[in-house]
Amino acid sequence: MQTICVTGVSGFIASWIVKGLLDRSHRVRGTVRNAAKGAPHLQILPGADERLELVSADLMRDGSFDAAVAGCDAVIHTASPYILDAKDPQHDLVDPAVMGTKTVLESCLKAPSVKRVVLTSSMAAITDEPENDKVLTDADWNTKSTLDRNPYYLSKTLAERAAWQFIAASKPAFDLVVVNPFFVIGPSLTAELNTTNQIFVDMLKGTYPGIMNLSWGMVDVRDVAESHIRAMELPAANGRYICANDAVPMRTVVEWLNEFGYGEEHKLPKLGMDCTIGDYLVKLSSYTQPKGVGDYLRTHIGKTPRYDTSKIRQELGIQFRDVKQSVRETLADLEEWGHLS
Ligand code: NAP
Repeated sequence: MQTICVTGVSGFIASWIVKGLLDRSHRVRGTVRNAAKGAPHLQILPGADERLELVSADLMRDGSFDAAVAGCDAVIHTASPYILDAKDPQHDLVDPAVMGTKTVLESCLKAPSVKRVVLTSSMAAITDEPENDKVLTDADWNTKSTLDRNPYYLSKTLAERAAWQFIAASKPAFDLVVVNPFFVIGPSLTAELNTTNQIFVDMLKGTYPGIMNLSWGMVDVRDVAESHIRAMELPAANGRYICANDAVPMRTVVEWLNEFGYGEEHKLPKLGMDCTIGDYLVKLSSYTQPKGVGDYLRTHIGKTPRYDTSKIRQELGIQFRDVKQSVRETLADLEEWGHLS
């Protein structure tokens, strides 16, 4: 049994990490912005009574994580704002992501018990514009995002870079392992609707004018959590791990949703826009969308992301669950939480 600090345990991914750690009999110290409010969805988990402790910490407050990481064996740092449409990208995204990562690492430096830090980065730190003819690996870095173009992607890239720079400069007693998930879907332990699961809600509510030439590197949140835990537990884990199952085109997702019976009651897109003229129309109309959505469409339309996941499969032994089944379970969960009505 080890004591693990997990930052941002109110979140979609972190909640499953906490569940996985408790199931493995670890002791968990979870950070939230205000511990007095509790985290009811976690406090009901098996083992939480005896082995889950909540501590207040804020990414924007220096030294905020000192108490949370003191005495821990490892730290899993997931907290970071995940919003595509920030009003002030520097203040709302980049500052908390970068300063938060540095703050957490500074606190770990003061805690000699910490042997490893696992950072939740993102595929966004690898690319912000997949190229059809390039297979991305953990050696690739996003060099294109700016405050004006996919700023969430910029925040993840700068935060991960800051983490590696911190390790190189401080040479701490702990090591750093990074997980780079792609498009995380799956059932949620909280009532909150995650930014990625939102896409299914949008598809069913008729937000999309048609079936677009978009593909998503989907990965189940439970596999993402398991990847973090193995990255923390396995001594040989090292470097970065692209964490994703195969990319799925929007057309296939729509077919699945129809097959699952959601086409009858909901407004699934029908018009085929996954063609050259469709790509052109989507790019043109992207300028009428909120800035973050427009950026995303212009950099992703017509692109099928290709990436090598052999490292996470071989070194962490991750076997990604079937995407179609994940989508089915995500939809059932969204329905249960009342997000589809
Ligand atoms: P989420 O549910 O929105 O969780 C984000 C967490 O960060 C929340 O616990 C949030 O706390 C916390 N946070 C944000 N700003 C904070 C601040 N200033 N101080 C303290 N905590 C703060 O998102 P998620 O999808 O689980 O994302 C978790 C991590 O995975 C993030 O690093 C994200 O970039 C990364 N990621 C997500 C995906 C995906 O598809 N979902 C893919 C790749 C990487 P509050 O609840 O208090 O706001």
